[in-house]
Amino acid sequence: MPSNAEDSSDQENVENKIQIEEDSTYPLDNNITYRERMNKITKRSFNYIIIKEGVYPNGIVLNKKNILETSNESNKFQKKTYKIPHGYVVKTTWGRAAKKRTVCCEIDYINAIPQFRIKYGSNFQHVISSTKSATDAAIKYERSLKPGTKAKISGPILFGLQLDSVRKARESRKRGNLIKPAINCTPSTLEKRAKKLATKIQSNIKNDVKGVYHQSDQVILNNIEFSVNKKDCFQVNYGPENEINKTHKLRSVVKAVDQGQISRESYRELAAVEANLPRENSVSNERIAITDNMNQLIKISLVDMNGRDKLEEALGSDESEFRNPEITQEAIDIMGIGIYRSIKDILNYIIPYLKEKKVLRLSDTTIHLRISGDGRNVGRKIKHVMLTFMILNHKERHHHADYHYTTVLYPGTENYNTLEFILNPFLNELRSLKENGLEAAGILWNFELYFSSDWKFLAICLGLNGPTSNFFCPWCSCSKHQHGDLSKDWRIEKNMEQIATRYEDVNGHIHPPLIDMIAINHIIFDELHVFLRITDRLWELVLAEIKERDLFNNLTREVIMKEMQQLKVSFCFWENKESHNWEYTSLMGDDKEKVLRFFNLKLLFRPSRAQLIRNLWDQFYQIYCAIRDNTTDPGQLKIQAIDWLSLFLTPSQGDPNDPRTFIQGLYLPSHVTPYIHALVYHGWELLEKHKRWGLKAFSCSAVEKKNHNQVSTFFRKTLKNGGNPLKRKSAIQEIIEYENRTLYFTYNPLPESKKIKKLRIK
Ligand SMILES: [Zn+2]
Repeated sequence: MPSNAEDSSDQENVENKIQIEEDSTYPLDNNITYRERMNKITKRSFNYIIIKEGVYPNGIVLNKKNILETSNESNKFQKKTYKIPHGYVVKTTWGRAAKKRTVCCEIDYINAIPQFRIKYGSNFQHVISSTKSATDAAIKYERSLKPGTKAKISGPILFGLQLDSVRKARESRKRGNLIKPAINCTPSTLEKRAKKLATKIQSNIKNDVKGVYHQSDQVILNNIEFSVNKKDCFQVNYGPENEINKTHKLRSVVKAVDQGQISRESYRELAAVEANLPRENSVSNERIAITDNMNQLIKISLVDMNGRDKLEEALGSDESEFRNPEITQEAIDIMGIGIYRSIKDILNYIIPYLKEKKVLRLSDTTIHLRISGDGRNVGRKIKHVMLTFMILNHKERHHHADYHYTTVLYPGTENYNTLEFILNPFLNELRSLKENGLEAAGILWNFELYFSSDWKFLAICLGLNGPTSNFFCPWCSCSKHQHGDLSKDWRIEKNMEQIATRYEDVNGHIHPPLIDMIAINHIIFDELHVFLRITDRLWELVLAEIKERDLFNNLTREVIMKEMQQLKVSFCFWENKESHNWEYTSLMGDDKEKVLRFFNLKLLFRPSRAQLIRNLWDQFYQIYCAIRDNTTDPGQLKIQAIDWLSLFLTPSQGDPNDPRTFIQGLYLPSHVTPYIHALVYHGWELLEKHKRWGLKAFSCSAVEKKNHNQVSTFFRKTLKNGGNPLKRKSAIQEIIEYENRTLYFTYNPLPESKKIKKLRIK
């Protein structure tokens, strides 16, 4: 190699006291002076003008012999080799005064063989050429000037092959030609380079692994990541893409985006930050594919309510829990359209899975189906009404909203006529399930139907009068005037067939029942509503008593608010400017429980009375806990519940005008609410009948949560997604398609993705 030759020649020079001087600023200046000195005397001196620098041809292509010039013309020098450039022109001048000579030396490769030419004469009109070497050309040149001469001039020096500055310029240019800085490269070149580097690393790692891991360990390099100039970042993956993993990953992302309600814009930003996330459009396409596929399997039908549900009717004056005008507007926009998802389609989809998971067993082919309804206010008297069903056999999922499957949805009013119309296909399917069963996964399944909802919804579905009417009870014929008669033993006595045949003959029933395929003793109250509404009543009665005594003043209100603060319950009173009534915060479930259990009534009443009311509250709480507990003895519960009602109805004793004999009782029969009646008289019996599931299994909290979440998410979302209001999907359609996808994800669980341990070496 020329560089080796240079290094060793320098050493030789020192030993022989020969100094080489190359006076050069090439390539800034193409005039170069070269001197060889010994003992401070110049032995030889040459001046060069580099006309064309030339290039070193690719050594791999050419025969080594052809590209290297070997020089041993002086025994004082070690044998040297020089690389021979192509397209090279230099003017060389040497000698002094009359002996001064100038030649023009050129080297060109022809058919991979270097041609050495020396041009000389006043106009360089004479040419000597050689295909052997520079030395051969130099000898021929000397002989052409003086035939037979023994004089020899060094070929390499004549051609300036020894000039370091020119060699370095050529070599750096050659490297530069092969590898350009990344900034000057096209994207495809950069990609090629990244792949090349990745290939090198992959082949190296096989050796590296040997010293670190055991030979039986399979270490696979999956990918590498690196950046070039902190700008161009590459991740190179090895091997073919695993299509299954890729699909799983994509679906996992669709699921997370769907269930987390991540907008397209937000996801795009996420994917920009994290390169390992699939692109937004692949996520979007996969979501559409899942939706389309599911919509084929579980059909969704739009139901035009033909103006049955009139907006004017809906525009009353009650308060909505959603004060958001966007939500109300969306509800008004889509009023009149309902949506229905076939219960049989859903069953056909989920039964094979439930059978496989042994939730449903061949030894018991009865599917226990719980139907629930819930209306959520989304505007003044406009409700978002939702019908769901769940499979009670799926015990561990009773309280999971994803396992309560929506069948009917509509924004509108919660009344008999509307429900009768929109529930029609659903009720027909229920009848068919009850009468004929359903064949799925090769088995004929029978159905037991149950119903659970809040009081209002239940009363409508039964064609029953409202809760304030005389005959209010879905289970028995108790009238509201009989609340005080503790001698009555009210039992579940109504019969659905009887009501369905002649509802007019059954007190309180004003329409044919809609849910005529469900037995009365399969209608179970929602224990959460029972708890909440009765707690409300107990609290109201306490406030009413304070008002009655004219003690409902600022001081008392202050005491109550302080105690609430103490219980960490946010609560306040305010005066309604129009009615001058004092209103107060309506409490959430958990807060109600805190108040019921821990509110210090002694702050409001004298100790004996406070104790009486506290006993009433405590016993109610015990009953509530007991009905939620499957191990409760129903007979015991019955006694406990009737004792409690007796306590509630404790009459006053003695003469009210004589404080010495008067003992104030608690509350009046007119204070008994339908919920109190239902809890006391029917709770124990329902518990006894449905011990297999427990009354907690009929709680509507999961359905309510589902309804609330869907309204707050989708009603606003569809509006925000905006665009052409005629083209965009309505909120209910979005909700039901979302439910179809949820069904897909619930029953096609994705494998857990591999966890990657992230490490860092500093
Ligand atoms: Zn009753």
